[in-house]
Amino acid sequence: MSIQEVELVIIGSGPAGYTAAVYAARAGLTPVVLAGSVTAGGALMTTTEVENFPGFVDGIQGPELMESMRAQAERFGARILLDDAVLVDLDGPIKTVETGAGETFLARAVILSMGSAYRKLGIPDEERLTGRGVSWCATCDGFFFREQEVVVVGGGDSAMEEALFLTRFASKVTVVHRRAEFRASKIMAQRVLDHPKIEVAWNSEVASLIGAEKVEAVALRDTVSGVERELAATGVFVAIGHDPRSEIVTGLVGTDADGYVLVEHPSTRTNLAGVFAAGDLVDHTYRQAITAAGTGCAAAQDAQHYLAALD
Ligand code: FAD
Repeated sequence: MSIQEVELVIIGSGPAGYTAAVYAARAGLTPVVLAGSVTAGGALMTTTEVENFPGFVDGIQGPELMESMRAQAERFGARILLDDAVLVDLDGPIKTVETGAGETFLARAVILSMGSAYRKLGIPDEERLTGRGVSWCATCDGFFFREQEVVVVGGGDSAMEEALFLTRFASKVTVVHRRAEFRASKIMAQRVLDHPKIEVAWNSEVASLIGAEKVEAVALRDTVSGVERELAATGVFVAIGHDPRSEIVTGLVGTDADGYVLVEHPSTRTNLAGVFAAGDLVDHTYRQAITAAGTGCAAAQDAQHYLAALD
């Protein structure tokens, strides 16, 4: 148990948090990064090949990319702790951040970069086959499914977007939806319904995933009759939503109705002086490693300017 005074605490260790740490450390702020006790490195730790992060001609494994970002931040003096922020007080000139391990940091600035979590199907083997056919991101992984048959789960606008995007690669896309009509906007739903490569499995849910090393098929259950059938597919794109990890700051900083932290675009300033936010915690739309890294960089610079103005 200790109380430490620091310039900057960064909460979260995905591309946003680690990039903020690189910039803040190089600016001499010696940031403390609370990287999380279980999931340090963020969402890319759960994936295999990342082919769209610039600079890696042949792609790079997600965990390798994140370990490099971490090492780069540490090289410039960032202190990375495998610990969670559990309680924060962000009002006033000195912010308090308490960790799960019982440390207390008194910081002049805080960067929030806790990311967001994709909603899961909650079925057996989902974890095991993630990155082996199960994906939450067509932009990231669609390319791997050229001339293959894939499934998109969901009925909202993002499911429609994922399905339409995947038609560029896949030979056939089946949208699996629990109900008899889509929740998506009319125009998006109509595009999906009109597309020659897309079929819809109405009143259906994915009951289980079939495949030893990779997804080979899914078992679809009819939500009305309960009858199951098998559908061949090598890719399962889950598009049933995502939730920002803003639980520790709910009611403390401004968020939108879905819990995403609000910032004064194009800056990363929140409604509280000295508190900045970056990455998927803020971003409904782009949700890529490179965009998270970009806003992490901006947050570090915003924090640096804020601290410099105080001195
Ligand atoms: P995250 O990476 O989510 O990191 C946030 C971190 O903060 C997490 O480790 C979280 O546990 C931690 N945290 C949360 N709360 C606390 C707390 N209270 N205390 C301490 N730590 C906390 N993007 C691409 O560009 N290319 C791809 O190929 C690609 N593939 C993907 C594959 C998968 C399976 C997934 C899930 C995502 C993929 N993405 C890809 C998207 C990309 O991973 C995200 O856009 C990016 O990681 C967001 O970065 P972030 O720093 O905002 O948040």
